[in-house]
Amino acid sequence: MKDNTKLIHGYSVFDGETGASSIPIYQCSTFKQDSIKEGQPYTYSRFGNPTRHALEEGIAAIEGGRFATAFSSGMAAISAVLLSFSQGDHIVMCKSIYGGTFQLVNEVMSRYGIEVTFVDETNLNEWAQAIRPNTKAFYLESPSNPLLSITDIVGVVSIAREHHLHTIIDNTFMTPLYQHPLELGVDVVIHSATKFINGHSDVVAGLVITNDEEWAQQIVLQQKVLGSILSVEDCWLIMRGMKTMGLRMEQSVKSAEQISRLLEEHPAVKKVHYPGLPSHPGFDIHRRQASCGGAVLSFELENQEAVYTFADALKIPIAAVSLGGVESILSYPVTMSHACVPKEEREKQGVTEGLLRLSVGIEDTEDLLADLEQALEQVLTQKEELVTK
Ligand SMILES: *Cc1c(COP(=O)(O)O)cnc(C)c1O
Repeated sequence: MKDNTKLIHGYSVFDGETGASSIPIYQCSTFKQDSIKEGQPYTYSRFGNPTRHALEEGIAAIEGGRFATAFSSGMAAISAVLLSFSQGDHIVMCKSIYGGTFQLVNEVMSRYGIEVTFVDETNLNEWAQAIRPNTKAFYLESPSNPLLSITDIVGVVSIAREHHLHTIIDNTFMTPLYQHPLELGVDVVIHSATKFINGHSDVVAGLVITNDEEWAQQIVLQQKVLGSILSVEDCWLIMRGMKTMGLRMEQSVKSAEQISRLLEEHPAVKKVHYPGLPSHPGFDIHRRQASCGGAVLSFELENQEAVYTFADALKIPIAAVSLGGVESILSYPVTMSHACVPKEEREKQGVTEGLLRLSVGIEDTEDLLADLEQALEQVLTQKEELVTK
């Protein structure tokens, strides 16, 4: 079964009881028990709910894993995974990391005695050299946010296996369609389903998928005791959004490829970060582990002034935090995703004041290209005015 068929038929898409064409929303906190003498499959919605289980079963099928767990946000999913570690444990992480994850490990996990070392994710030696006797896991994102740097997933997994470490990946950017980390040997896959999986900028949610039974039990326990379960309405919305993920992604990726080429050739743009471009330093590695460059790219303009001119001139993309919606979204990492990262650390990560991130939506490619082009022209015009003044 290929992707689009799988998204419509590859799991329980229909209600087994009635044949209803979408899984019902089981809006209940508790379940009447047939007898108080023994339990039954569903007893309380924090422990399990049929709507949530349908989503969990669905995403497991799409990601190609045995077990999946749904959370109230991507950060709740990441917290559940990372709080599975104990005092004294050490984790090695990619330095280009999602801002919230950075804050979680620095401001929360550090208080519980869980240590983290950040490495240049593109350098396999750094991963190997960061290992200590108490290291338990490698944690990575590829492509990374917002610079789209590429980590050699198979390379990292093989170092991890040599040292009996677990590997965890945040696979949000590539979606379950374009990169299959479990097949590459990763133990735990995390998604912010807020992004492409739901795809409509109307739900915040997180998912964790694994083939490892011990990990699955641990994560189900965290879901239950941390209590960060996904509400049934949101589960339903994600199941609805998921069905069109293939079609949405196809359009967004097609546009992202063309936009990346436009930006690369434009004199107002200093640099483009898109792993689908042959000029990207991680292009060859990315091509081995993913089937396209995805729908997110970032690029650098000369300075903050150019960024403001460009953003003001742009008509179609909305300026917002987040990505992966049907609408194109322009983000400014300095004031948005990386606002909580100290300036010095942010610049060390390469997040400069000229950097913008674009999540490409499903609008017509021609309209997006024209809009970007006119906004870039304004940047050039403004620069000329300054020079002649
Ligand atoms: C958005 C995002 C998260 C956090 O997800 P939320 O649903 O906002 O909690 C984590 N990782 C990546 C790569 C993201 O883009």
